This record gives sequence, structure tokens and C-alpha cells, in this order.
Amino acid sequence: KDLTVGVVGLGAMGLGMAASSARAGFRTLGFDLAPEPAETARGAGVEPVPTLEDAFAADRIVFSLPTARDVADVIKRMAALLQQRDRVVIIDTSTSEPQVTRDLAQRLAAMGHGFLDAPVSGGPAGAANGALTMMIGGTAKDLADAQPVIEALSSKAIHVGESGAGNVAKLVNNLLCAAHMITTAEGLRLAEAAGISAESALDVLNAASGRSMVSEVHFPTWVMNEGFDSGFTMALMQKDVRLARKLAEDTGTKMPLTEKAARLWAEASYAATDDFTRMGDFRNKG
Ligand code: NAD
Repeated sequence: KDLTVGVVGLGAMGLGMAASSARAGFRTLGFDLAPEPAETARGAGVEPVPTLEDAFAADRIVFSLPTARDVADVIKRMAALLQQRDRVVIIDTSTSEPQVTRDLAQRLAAMGHGFLDAPVSGGPAGAANGALTMMIGGTAKDLADAQPVIEALSSKAIHVGESGAGNVAKLVNNLLCAAHMITTAEGLRLAEAAGISAESALDVLNAASGRSMVSEVHFPTWVMNEGFDSGFTMALMQKDVRLARKLAEDTGTKMPLTEKAARLWAEASYAATDDFTRMGDFRNKG
């Protein structure tokens, strides 16, 4: 456990990942543009550092940033430092874009550095418990060098393929999660309209073939009680659905049903900062 881990982005996911890294015994440095998460991070055994450069002194660097643009910006700002320093492996857990990832991985490889796309599923609780599902794209060498950190953050890590493959898998996953949010809500609305309670209908789904993680976890935990606080925002899910749709366009893939779901997400009237589970609000007749 001699490795030092830098975590860039201490939001809903990054904070928990930094805590899991520290708990696993790695000296863990945390950086965020916003000052607020630093104190929480300190409480979890993470050393908050004042600059991005400080985080980039680490042996392995975990990114948990909102978008591909943020990921590319950080690499751009660290370009000079990366030219000089010894080999580092970046584990990018952001839900990013395959083409951006491939370009970055190639540029970093030319400098001797590693870059893995390693987006995650499991939400803030999975991050805090080191129990994420991680879908990884990149070379076997980068993966081997990142392995101890990946083990600290995830309970299941799947090496999907070459650079960008992890991002593709994540976008497919989130497209289906987004669609399930809508189909499950519509199913419960139909159940109530036809005279059975949504609670009974959900019980049945979850013991039968209509279930998904959305019906098994999201509805019972965040929708039925109208808490709507899973920790994943509308803005981030709308980004993922937009990227999945772009992937379908780029590859000429027909997907009539999920395309319709993607459109409903794009047109949703919830605020960017609202929780994405609001889309499951089956009693909202709007
Ligand atoms: P978040 O908005 O809570 O956190 C992002 C953090 O990054 C913020 O604290 C922000 O200040 C910081 N940041 C932005 N630009 C930065 C920069 N240049 N340098 C340092 N810090 C910077 O988002 P989140 O929910 O933690 O999601 C992070 C990524 O993980 C996203 O790509 C998201 O799609 C993905 N994801 C989220 C969830 C979830 O349930 N929240 C689950 C799986 C994947």
C-alpha cells in the first residue's frame, strides 16, 4: 500500500471513492474546484490538497468529473507537468465520451502514461462502500498497474475492451436505466388506473419478469416515498442519454424504443439539479 492516490473531483461519487481509497490504506490526496468537500474529505481520512498540481503528484490518479470536457480540460492544464513526471496511470471514473477517451489515452501513452476509462455504477453509496461496478477500457498494462486501486473502489470490475470500451458499456447501461425509469413509472401508473395499488404492483414486478434494478432499488428507496434523493442529478442523466443517442447516430444503430425514451429525458421539465429519480414520479400526471 505504498501507492499514493490522487482523487480529482470530490462530488457525490468522488468523495466516497476517496474515502474508500483511504480506508484501503492508500495515502489519498483529494482535490476539487469547490472548497466545500475538503473538510468532509478530511473526516474520511483523505488529505485535501489546494491545487490540481498537488493531486497530480500521486502515483495513481482517479478522476470523478462531470463531463468529458472537464476530463479533457484537466489533462490539458496538466500537460506540462505530465511531460516531465514519471509514469502515472489515470483511472477516469467519469461517465465520459469514448472518442474523447481514446484521444486522451493515445496522447498520454505517447508520454509513457496510462489512461483507463473506468466509469462506475452503484451511486454514492457504492462509492462510499468501495462496492462499485466498474467497466473498464484500456490496455492490460495500465489495468495491471491500476489494479490495487480498482480493487479498493469496486466489488466488480469488468475489463470490457480497448480504450473507450468502458464508456460505451456505461452509456448502454445508463440508456437502459433511463428507459426503465420511464417504463416502470408507466407500469405503476397503469396498475393504479386499473385498480391495483402501485405497492402491490411493484411487489409483483420484483418477484417476476418485469423487474430491473430500477424497480428493485430505485423505486423502493427513492420513488415510492417521494424522497427523490438518490444523489444523481437530472443534468448528469440527461448528459448520459444524449451521449448514448449520439453513439447510436454515429454507429447507425436503430433503437426506436430507447430513442423515444431518450427524447422524453431530453424534454423533461425538471431542473438540472433535481434528482434523476423524479422521472419515476408515476403519480405526476404532467
Ligand atoms: P458531482 O457534480 O456531484 O461532482 C463532480 C465534482 O467535480 C464537483 O464537486 C465539482 O466541483 C468537481 N469538479 C468539476 N470540475 C473540476 C475540475 N476541473 N477540477 C476539480 N474538480 C472539478 O457529480 P457526481 O454525481 O459525483 O458524478 C461524477 C461523475 O460520475 C459524472 O460523470 C457522473 O455522470 C458519474 N456517475 C455519477 C453517479 C451518481 O449516482 N451520482 C453514478 C455513476 C456515475
